[in-house]
Amino acid sequence: LEPMRIAKAIAHAGLCSRRDAEKWIEAGRVCVNGTVLTTPAHVVSGEDTILVDGDPLPSLHAPRLWRYNKPKGLVTSHKDPEGRPTVFANLPDTLPRVVSVGRLDINTEGLLLLTTDGNLARHLELPSTGWVRRYRVRAHGQVSQRALDALKDGVTIDGIRYGPIDAKIERTQGSNVWLLIGLREGKNREVKRIAAHLGLTVTRLIRTSFGPFSLGDLPSGTVDEVKRKVIADQL
Ligand code: URA
Repeated sequence: LEPMRIAKAIAHAGLCSRRDAEKWIEAGRVCVNGTVLTTPAHVVSGEDTILVDGDPLPSLHAPRLWRYNKPKGLVTSHKDPEGRPTVFANLPDTLPRVVSVGRLDINTEGLLLLTTDGNLARHLELPSTGWVRRYRVRAHGQVSQRALDALKDGVTIDGIRYGPIDAKIERTQGSNVWLLIGLREGKNREVKRIAAHLGLTVTRLIRTSFGPFSLGDLPSGTVDEVKRKVIADQL
């Protein structure tokens, strides 16, 4: 833990906002190395023992996880060589430094998981985790349910093996079709490549769930932290 002001350390541990932490300190609820703190200006580091209401601060190394509704137009990387806007430069500034669990293409919307723990991110991306990613896809063109059913044992496109793919027609809308697609892996441009294989062009792509986590009604561009208890139960 790099040295930081105590209120920031409490907020980073996920207990409350920095402002709330300052109030807790003023109310005498926070103890550092056996002494009740009186000022939020106090700086702590990894060697300090911090108690809040008598309980040790949850490890600052315990993984934290957020659901994020990615808007279209942002690239999922920390820096873009082409200078396009990134997810990470557009997150609420209450978030500590995070990495994403996999990526969504620039024009893809919807659920992206963010975590403070790089190892956890890599683990959750693996196909062996077995988590289904669900997408709502608007595509230009026409397709039969029979053609979609043929994907259920997987398909090889340009030498790359995809699948199993769970796909069904939600509805048709003029010259577009809305599909619901479920995949157990996150290969590069997977949905678009599968759609192209079917003769369809994707015009909108929204990820609605990732494993046990759903987009729900999370507003675009916002985050919602997954409770520690839920992380412990799911991972
Ligand atoms: N498949 C794609 O083609 N793009 C994404 O962003 C996600 C899945």
